[in-house]
Amino acid sequence: MTNHLFSQIRDRMPDGNKPFLETADGSVLTYQDVLALSARFANALIGLGVTPGDRVAVQVEKTPEALMLYLATVRAGGVFLPLNTAYTPAEIDYFISDAEPKVFVCDPSRRDALAETASKVGASLETLGADGKGSLKDLAQAADVEFADVARTEDDLAAILYTSGTTGRSKGAMLSHENLASNARTLVDYWRFTSDDVLLHALPIFHTHGLFVATNSLLMAGASMLFLPKFDLGKVLELLPRATTMMGVPTFYIRLLTSDAFTKDLVAHMRLFISGSAPLSAEVHREFSARTGHAILERYGMTETNMNTSNPYDGERRPGTVGFPLPGVSVRIADPDTGKEVAQGEVGIIEVKGPNVFQGYWRMPEKTAEEFRVDRYFITGDMGQLSDDGYISIVGRSKDLIISGGFNVYPAEVEALIDEIEGVAENAIIGVPHPDFGEGVVAVVAAKSGVTIDPMAITAALSEKLAKFKQPKQIHVVDTLPRNTMGKIQKNVLRDQFKDDFS
Ligand code: ATP
Ligand code: MG
Repeated sequence: MTNHLFSQIRDRMPDGNKPFLETADGSVLTYQDVLALSARFANALIGLGVTPGDRVAVQVEKTPEALMLYLATVRAGGVFLPLNTAYTPAEIDYFISDAEPKVFVCDPSRRDALAETASKVGASLETLGADGKGSLKDLAQAADVEFADVARTEDDLAAILYTSGTTGRSKGAMLSHENLASNARTLVDYWRFTSDDVLLHALPIFHTHGLFVATNSLLMAGASMLFLPKFDLGKVLELLPRATTMMGVPTFYIRLLTSDAFTKDLVAHMRLFISGSAPLSAEVHREFSARTGHAILERYGMTETNMNTSNPYDGERRPGTVGFPLPGVSVRIADPDTGKEVAQGEVGIIEVKGPNVFQGYWRMPEKTAEEFRVDRYFITGDMGQLSDDGYISIVGRSKDLIISGGFNVYPAEVEALIDEIEGVAENAIIGVPHPDFGEGVVAVVAAKSGVTIDPMAITAALSEKLAKFKQPKQIHVVDTLPRNTMGKIQKNVLRDQFKDDFS
């Protein structure tokens, strides 16, 4: 028996001298280095007592070593459990108590603050810093460069990833070797990744987007990446001419468009821009196409499911939609109460089934049971709609659905119209308590820099386009919208901020 995920990466590896990753300072890790360094880390983990199924929790900065630690954990038969670098030691305490890892790797600066958390669950506490150094690196350096991969089946867990916590407390999604491998194989194919590709990687690696969508696909294609610690506009502009593809959250593309240096010439040789993790407004999509000649390819996924749908590589990449179900993934738009498919064009809840769908929430059997239908479709919590030619659009999360005077208001519909108004940078539609209507629709609008927006102009622009019950009863103009580290607008923060609008 082989190690299901890693053997597929290994089988597809290009020549050892080929670069896998280049950092901002120009140092290069070849594929041969990937094998050697991940072997050393795997030996270090085994030395710390990791046995098959043990969690290896990490809260570390984005470094090549951190990526190697991911591969090492998989090779050693462990379960990789990355944590958002923004979490405070108090928040980490919850995750570590929940995950009970065998090994916990943190930043050297946090070692003391986290010592008690680690010892409570009997985890070995090791360090790895932003410079790639630390106690774990020392162990790895002293370890053997050969490693016999631990056998794992397709159903064994490879990772537990916590969701972004946009709608509530983050949940740990258990992902099997085949959940990850199947999605990576599909994406390589669908997005035409080859070993000639160079991916500009500026996403965090504690989240499914930067870790699995980007890294696993790249490894399965034997391609290379330019690896930035974070999205830095100047650095991205400097490196784009060397890249063939880029994956980003919508804010990356919004920020690129604010720069005059971001021109058609700069990206003339680019093959593909991909967006996901949050809705990309149709306006930004159009502006991007007009500026660069590239239609951003928007796709839709979740921590729990990897990627579900994607706009096509060839054919129309339709703004405001997330395209078609990926090969092998079944998607249905269902009645939230019954799980029965709704008529084409109606809004319903998006449900998915396929080899990409996770094994359940870590230590939350009841929550897991609630989110699956009897026929094993996973209830995503996103509301969607199918066009007559098969494109799926997301109209909002079910938790963000507004019911005003008994009528449903889907935030995305109103947001798209406000986005079209001159001077609007971005906006969010929320529902807050209203004495007469149950919920009242509220718009929170951020203007483009240097522009003043008149709420009356928004009201006027919407009055002819939307039924009265969908029109915002209150409009707030703000500087920026609150977003979490994945660039997702935090509607719960806004709902809280404006909860007294109608009271
Ligand atoms: P939590 O589940 O903890 O509330 P989260 O859902 O934001 O947080 P993730 O798993 O990171 O955590 O995000 C998945 C969600 O992101 C999807 O359910 C969907 O709402 C949103 N999303 C992802 N891609 C897109 C997209 N292209 N368009 C619109 N929404 C998207
Ligand atoms: Mg979610």
